Amino acid sequence: MNCKVQKGDPVALGRLSAMSEDVGGCRVYVGSKSNKGYGRIWWNGQLHQAHRISYEVNIGPIPAGKHVLHRCDNPPCVNPEHLFVGTNMDNVQDKIVKGRQHRGETTGTSKLKEEQVRAIKADTRSNTAVARAYGVVKSLISEIRSGKKWAHIRDQPGNEEFVTKLREKLPRSKPATTKGDTITERGAA
Ligand SMILES: [Zn+2]
Repeated sequence: MNCKVQKGDPVALGRLSAMSEDVGGCRVYVGSKSNKGYGRIWWNGQLHQAHRISYEVNIGPIPAGKHVLHRCDNPPCVNPEHLFVGTNMDNVQDKIVKGRQHRGETTGTSKLKEEQVRAIKADTRSNTAVARAYGVVKSLISEIRSGKKWAHIRDQPGNEEFVTKLREKLPRSKPATTKGDTITERGAA
């Protein structure tokens, strides 16, 4: 994943331009695409992701090990103004902030996302305040908290609301203890 194309290369610029069209501010690649929706482009005898080529030819070399991410959340977009480099972790955070992940993933990166959802659930501030803090819409916070989204993520031990709900569900013959941790463990089993 080294530098594939020189910045300003006229051939690469010409091909990107010819193979993409303006769609609502994005430059959407109209050629072949990967199963994830990224444009694909042959360059120097190898198949590359079009947005990575666009980044290098318009902005410069991609640092080793870095991903080229989309501000616009539109995989086929090759508009250099919509691209930025980051780590895979940045990509994960970016996705959750945009609310693209409606359910946990089975990849090795799922821990971070789940942690963020847990943090959102455990946050004692209002939906409005939390939405502002995470840069997402209030309805998403509300959906996460009400269990419409990410329902499989349990609340953090000690989350008052969760503990209260759980107490209501517990059979009367087994009264809830006052220790939030114990109750949460039972609920998570
Ligand atoms: Zn775009």
